[in-house]
Order: sequence, then C-alpha cells, then structure tokens
Amino acid sequence: MVVVGAGFAGLAAARTLSGGPAEVTLVDQRNFHTFQPLLYEVATAGLDPGDVAYPIRAVFGRSRTVTFRNAAVTGVDWQAGAVLLDDGRLPFDSLIIASGATAAYFGIPGAEQWSFPLYTVADARILRDHLLRRLEQVDAHPELIDAGALTFVVVGGGPTGVEVSGALAELLDVAVRRDGFGFDRSAARVILVDALDRLLTPFGTSGASYAARALGRRSVELLLGRRVRRVEGSCVELDDGSRIATHTVVWAGGVTVAGTLASVIGTPTVTGGRLEVGEDLALPGHERAYAVGDAAAVPWGPQRPGAVCPQLAQVAIQSGHHAATQVLDQIAGRPPRPFRYRDKGIMATIGRRAAIAELPNGWTVRGTAGWLAWLLLHLVYLVGFRNKLTVLVNWSWRYLSWTSGPRIIVGAAADRRSPHVPPPGP
Ligand SMILES: Cc1cc2nc3c(=O)[nH]c(=O)nc-3n(C[C@H](O)[C@H](O)[C@H](O)COP(=O)(O)OP(=O)(O)OC[C@H]3O[C@@H](n4cnc5c(N)ncnc54)[C@H](O)[C@@H]3O)c2cc1C
Repeated sequence: MVVVGAGFAGLAAARTLSGGPAEVTLVDQRNFHTFQPLLYEVATAGLDPGDVAYPIRAVFGRSRTVTFRNAAVTGVDWQAGAVLLDDGRLPFDSLIIASGATAAYFGIPGAEQWSFPLYTVADARILRDHLLRRLEQVDAHPELIDAGALTFVVVGGGPTGVEVSGALAELLDVAVRRDGFGFDRSAARVILVDALDRLLTPFGTSGASYAARALGRRSVELLLGRRVRRVEGSCVELDDGSRIATHTVVWAGGVTVAGTLASVIGTPTVTGGRLEVGEDLALPGHERAYAVGDAAAVPWGPQRPGAVCPQLAQVAIQSGHHAATQVLDQIAGRPPRPFRYRDKGIMATIGRRAAIAELPNGWTVRGTAGWLAWLLLHLVYLVGFRNKLTVLVNWSWRYLSWTSGPRIIVGAAADRRSPHVPPPGP
C-alpha cells in the first residue's frame, strides 16, 4: 500500500501500519517531516530549521514493513491502481492521501508575489534571512526607515499571525537591546492586519481580548476589520485606500487545498478544495483509498453530525491513525467504522510567558500557566528525541538569557537579489 505525505497525518498512518501485515511505501516530496506549529520560531530566529524538521528515514529506518520514497506525487491512475510520481509510478492496493494544504492568497493582487508565506521550513528560513537583512540594512542606512524598511506587516489574526507578531516584536526587542543595532526600537513597527474585527476566531472572545492586550504590551499595532486590497514590493494597500510603506509582509491569511495534489486526483472536493470523504474517511467511489489531515474535509463524527473538523495537527494525527486502522480492518475482513474526532482543545502563544489554551470542557488557561502548557505539549508532539532535547535546551536557555537564538543570515547570494529586497541605500 502507499501513503502520500509524511506530515502529521501520513506519519501517524505509517506508524500505525508499521510492523503489520501490509507492505507500506511512504512517499514525500521532501525527505523530512516538518513540525509546522514551530515554523514561526524559525522565522523569528528562535529555533534552527533542523529543530523543527526530522528525517523521515530516521523514523522508519528500522521498520520491517515501511519504506520511504522521496518523490513528488503528480496524480493517481485509478484504473491501473498506481500513484504517478515525477520519476515513475508506484502500484497500490490501498492508498492514503495525506498531502496537506498550502497558503491561500484569496486572489489578492501581489500577495503571492510579494509576501512571505510561512508553510515550509524553506519559507521560514527565507523569512528569517529577510528580517535579519532588513535590520542590517537599516543599521547601515537609517534613512530607509521612512521607506518602511523597519515596518513589518503580518496579515491574518489567527493563531499563526498572532504567534508571528508576538515573536517578531520579541526579536526586535532582543536585536535592539543586545545586538548593538544603532536604530531606536520605537522606529520598528509590527502591524497585524485582519479583515475580522477580532483576533483568534477559533477561541472565545475573552481569549481574543487577552491576545490583543498581550500583543499591545509588546507594542504590536492591531488593524482589525481592515482588508488587504493589494500588496506591492514596497507597500500594502488596505480596503480604505490607505497605504502602509513596508518591505515585509508576512502572509498568515489562511490555507487552501486548491492547487495541491488533491486538486488533480479526480475525486470530489468541497470548500477550500478539501477532498470529500465518507464517515470512514474513504474517498467516494474508492473503498480502498482514503484522504486524511488538512487535505480532507474530515467529518467530526457522530457527536457533531454534519460538522467538518478544523485543519489542525490533532485532526491530522487522529484521521491518519483512523485511515490506517481501516486498512488493517479490511485486511482482517472487519467492516468499516466511522471516524470520531476527540477534541483536545486549542492553544496559541503570544510570546514569552503569554499563551492561551482553551479546553473542550470550557476551561481556559492563560499567561505563564498557558505558556508552560504550550511548551510542554509542543515538546511532546515534536518528532525525534534529538529535536525534543535541542528545543528544550534552546527554550530554557532563551528563558534565562535573552541573548541566544540563531540570528544568522545563511541564505545564498541569490536571495539577496530577491524582489523583496529594497534598493540599497544611496
Ligand atoms: C505556520 C503554521 C502553524 C501551525 N500551528 C498549529 C498549531 O499551533 N496547532 C495545530 O494544531 N495546528 C497548527 N497548524 C496546522 C497543522 O500544522 C496542520 O493541520 C498539519 O500539519 C496537517 O498535517 P497533514 O499531515 O495533513 O499535512 P502537512 O503537515 O502539511 O504534511 C503534508 C506532507 O505532504 C507532502 N506532500 C504534499 N504534496 C505532495 C506531493 N504532491 N507529493 C509528495 N509529497 C507531498 C508535504 O511535503 C508534507 O510533508 C499550523 C500550520 C502552519 C502552516
């Protein structure tokens, strides 16, 4: 059988199948698993890229039944029962599609061309280099401040936008206090824009107000109820016609499945391009093929009939595990079972000692307690002991001493010529 994608969902599926009766090929276009919830820490120079990525071969190197294939899947030949790869094809008897989603730009002119998405390790590393280059450039040419070189606009007030904004403000604090940059901290602006009039829509209103206050304390400016109309190389235009001079737009505006593998496999899709699946997560008309995680419109289950799960790591893990158990059940001749999501709550951090966690029973944990819970949970779900250890050491060290953090520009010279880089000073 074949599992496409080694994100949270594909990894959970392959782990469930490992050692069982099926020979499994796990395919991914990258040779590593990405822990997306901590990408913002890489982008803001809190963690190294290697801390949030883990080689897939290291997970299954000793498995008797799971092998890894590093290739991009380009389609599915349903008649022949084969997955099409950029360098060949792989026959399957059962298939699990866990190819995830991608950044959504909603057709906003210039957004894809000029803004920085935060979806892959490469995105995070490119953004980190860009941020640090802006600081170096302004240090050498303070006159660029008026052109927006120290204005950082984050689009999207969901958990990712809130986390990036808080961490970006902290990066600026540290850079000015500890790294000897010549400009004043008050010259650097972090502006968070969202079309809705509140932050963190998945959370309750008191959680949203808490996040707004915590960001305010970190001098993040909130522009809520304002839509981005256009992004250009040196400014963002809002729906009221106002323009913010900036060379850095971080795109945290949402995700879509449209344009990914899910769009080309020829089975029905629903809102956001997500693959339609049955209650057991099987694709319509293909009883031995499943879609899971962000790529699928995963049904919540009998406890909330008709509801679709949000695109979260827990949903990906649980749905990947369920699809794998369906394959095992089929082999054992057992009938299909419906998926049932076990909601474990939601969390977001706003920076050092500020986070919010909402549990399904209505309990809310905030502040330092919420932050510690957030740290612990992310350590538990990080893949690989080495990564858990390095992240724990990095976080502890940074808590004790603000000076640490990989504030290094490693990008190749080609990045310097990227259109994101404003013209050099006079
Ligand atoms: C910045 C960010 C922060 C987040 N923070 C949180 C959070 O705090 N809490 C939370 O619960 N969720 C969070 N999420 C959401 C969570 O990360 C996703 O719900 C989860 O990663 C989905 O897992 P997945 O396995 O479905 O997809 P992914 O993790 O996206 O994995 C998909 C895999 O498929 C591979 N792939 C894609 N297309 C192909 C192809 N054609 N051929 C071969 N391989 C392919 C990719 O390389 C990737 O490895 C965040 C997401 C982002 C982007």
